[in-house]
Amino acid sequence: MTPLPLGLYLHIPFCRQRCDFCAFYLEIHREGRAETFVQSLIHEIGLSAQQHVAAGRPIQSVYVGGGTPTVLAPTQLIAILSEIRTHLALASDCEITVEAHPSTISEQDHTQLLQAGVTRMSFGAESMEDGDLARIGRPGAVHETVVAVAQARAAGFTNINLDLMYGLPGQSLEGWQRTLFRSLTLEPTHLSCYALTVEEDTRLASNIQRRRSPAPDEGLQIEMDEAAQRMLGDAGYERYEVSNYAKPGYACRHNLLYWTNGEYLGLGPSAQSYLDGTRFGNAADLAAYDTSIAANRLPIEDRTRLSEEEQLRDAVIFGLRLIQGIPTRCLHQHAANYGHAAITAQLLGQQLIEEDGERSRLSARGRLQADTIAEQLY
Ligand code: SF4
Repeated sequence: MTPLPLGLYLHIPFCRQRCDFCAFYLEIHREGRAETFVQSLIHEIGLSAQQHVAAGRPIQSVYVGGGTPTVLAPTQLIAILSEIRTHLALASDCEITVEAHPSTISEQDHTQLLQAGVTRMSFGAESMEDGDLARIGRPGAVHETVVAVAQARAAGFTNINLDLMYGLPGQSLEGWQRTLFRSLTLEPTHLSCYALTVEEDTRLASNIQRRRSPAPDEGLQIEMDEAAQRMLGDAGYERYEVSNYAKPGYACRHNLLYWTNGEYLGLGPSAQSYLDGTRFGNAADLAAYDTSIAANRLPIEDRTRLSEEEQLRDAVIFGLRLIQGIPTRCLHQHAANYGHAAITAQLLGQQLIEEDGERSRLSARGRLQADTIAEQLY
């Protein structure tokens, strides 16, 4: 039997500073600390390959995220990628993505990453208006995104993503449309458009509580979402998931694994894995992570074996986010397993979920309420 493909996620837990809205696990970048971490991650790759990955199981995608991976020197990123190739079997067409903050990468860095086999650059642009960036405490400026994309393309990258956020404090519908328009002029192959959500214990949450910043306006976010769908659709991008748009053939293979209940191994502090029906996660603490690795122990803190019903539940909840949807029989089997027949019928009656006989998916209105619907079906 052909072994199932596997995704690999690497969490680089450093940023130069924390953005106001960010609740990810991370540390402020310091060179000495970062070098210790790189050595730990290299060690973890070898340990993990021995314990988790059956020989020959192909890695179809590698995603280096964070944090800000490009606060590491290219030589450090290349050493990590090289260790992966030593211990794991990368598929010949493996998609290798590196996330970058536009102000942390140079023309030469792009060339080195391309030569090391990186196939896709993902830039955290967030907005194409400097005022928006300032209001969310995001370091950097719009012109750095423009320069970084040009440098990536000049180096030879043909697969480029921009991450954008909408519903930012003070952002108008017209401002969001300008961001979309300017992003389109950069001709990325992929755009991720996320509605700003306010996470607990962030500076943004505190600013909103003290009335220094307005809370996101849900009605305006819906209008912004509709504007994105219209403008990006007109420009030839296909919306293939609630927040993701791609030119034909450029959907992110790694993220598709998450939404199709595929398996992935996560390495680095706080990284999550899903293998053989079990979810497990690494310690979200850099010191504890380094200590565990130094003792030749994988830094796994929690492990949950999912029942068949729970695996189906997750497949339904993630799969409904995809435009291709899920087999309708899976939706109804999940409803039967969890006693959700009434709520499922209600979501269908309200046309928030649509069925075309064999497949079920969120409708255009349903996509705007994806998180609420997921909670109802959990
Ligand atoms: S750059 Fe990204 S990971 Fe780092 S603080 Fe900002 S949002 Fe969070």
